[in-house]
Amino acid sequence: MKILITGGAGFIGSHLADRLLEMGEEVFAIDDLSTGSLKNIENNQDNERFHLVVDTILNEAVMNELVFKCDHIYHMAAAVGVKLIMNRPVETLETNVKGTEMILMLANRHKKKVLIASSSEVYGKIMDGENIPLLSEDSDRLMGFTTKRRWAYACSKALDEFLALAYFEEKKLPVIIARLFNTVGPRQTGQYGMVIPNFVQKALINKPITVFGDGSQSRSFTHIHDVTDALIKLMVEPKAVGQIYNVGNPEEVVIKDLAKLVKEMTGSASEIEYLTYEKAYGPGYEDMHRRCPDISRIKELIGFEPRIDLRGIIQSVIDYYKQ
Ligand code: UDP
Repeated sequence: MKILITGGAGFIGSHLADRLLEMGEEVFAIDDLSTGSLKNIENNQDNERFHLVVDTILNEAVMNELVFKCDHIYHMAAAVGVKLIMNRPVETLETNVKGTEMILMLANRHKKKVLIASSSEVYGKIMDGENIPLLSEDSDRLMGFTTKRRWAYACSKALDEFLALAYFEEKKLPVIIARLFNTVGPRQTGQYGMVIPNFVQKALINKPITVFGDGSQSRSFTHIHDVTDALIKLMVEPKAVGQIYNVGNPEEVVIKDLAKLVKEMTGSASEIEYLTYEKAYGPGYEDMHRRCPDISRIKELIGFEPRIDLRGIIQSVIDYYKQ
């Protein structure tokens, strides 16, 4: 098949391309190289079934041709990383909202199946300080007010979901929504804020590892290979159409323990320091205390079971940065 991946030179998109190429598919990747990079796809440079188009997904003429010639579309292109979102709010909103609008409009024009990468950010902050439950696809969402810039990203992703579901219901367009939880692995850069590559990079050079807030917040991390396998299975499962699926690993870790674990696994002499959220991100930031997925829906549909645990995830990032 011919597969289009938007954001195909990004962290997740490039791994998805690798996997699809291994399966024998032909892959068209479009990427504006804003957060993606040529390095992520250098291993596919000589593969004649891999094609890179360097352009923005907002270029309608280019996108129209790509959507027309491909069978399936994975829409992964988006503004990513809390740091980038906090620093470049206009770009975040425009890329996420206009980009998805463009993909859905063209997919509908040519009646192509599309998987939209959404985010666990759409759940928002739930209730701080309360007993925060596992997040299931039908959980209520709670956003902070609009001056808290972080929630712009969450709202833009939620709007993407509304739009995708509207196309499904009104125009019968086959869409699938995947809500990705914190995804980690080789090629992920720490440049836009992500915690594990940041901790690992600092630990490897014995520089201080910086925990934001008091470090009591927790996250659940999923290895990129588990995520790409899940996305590919969702795409070919007819029952997934018109539905939303959490893609994550429920194994949880408290961030201050994560810092200790990275330090231990790298044998690092780094100090563990604490920084207030205000100093880390500037004003307008709110964190969520816990974000752990309920994955029963995707388990039931495609037998999804994350295979790589937290230590395996961290080790893969250490190996990547040591190289
Ligand atoms: N974090 C941290 N130090 C860092 C980067 C992030 O303590 O250098 C914290 C951050 O405040 C958050 C958690 O780690 O509570 C996960 O952050 P990340 O940006 O990776 O993802 P998200 O906030 O989107 O879950």
